[in-house]
Amino acid sequence: MAPDDLVLACGQEMEHLSGIGEVADHMNACGICIGNYGALDGSDIASSGSAEYMELKQLLASYSDGDQQGWEAEFRNLRENDAPAIRALTLSVLRHGITTPILLGGDCRVWDGHHRLYVAHALGFEQVPIQHAGDIK
Ligand SMILES: [Zn+2]
Repeated sequence: MAPDDLVLACGQEMEHLSGIGEVADHMNACGICIGNYGALDGSDIASSGSAEYMELKQLLASYSDGDQQGWEAEFRNLRENDAPAIRALTLSVLRHGITTPILLGGDCRVWDGHHRLYVAHALGFEQVPIQHAGDIK
């Protein structure tokens, strides 16, 4: 039995889906999950709340990961080394959206939110909530 935080609405255990891409494929095919979690493009989330949003593609092109390996290597690293956290965050994002904006630094690096970006990217979100570090008072 998987812990509750790893079971999708339809009863599918996320540990049996080997990657978040497979979770996205499942979501697009599963009426129960779609009914519970809504569309996977982030639009439901974008329409609620007052945060600023940025196209995910634009963000990944304009801002680098902290250690300059590039996003592909960063995402692979997260997938291979932090899978339990990624699975738990995926389920949280499906249920509640991305509730904490991605923090963008004035140095064109993402200061916080690499895991959220990975999940949004893997689930096919078109936009994510952002905050510029300079805006923090
Ligand atoms: Zn399902």
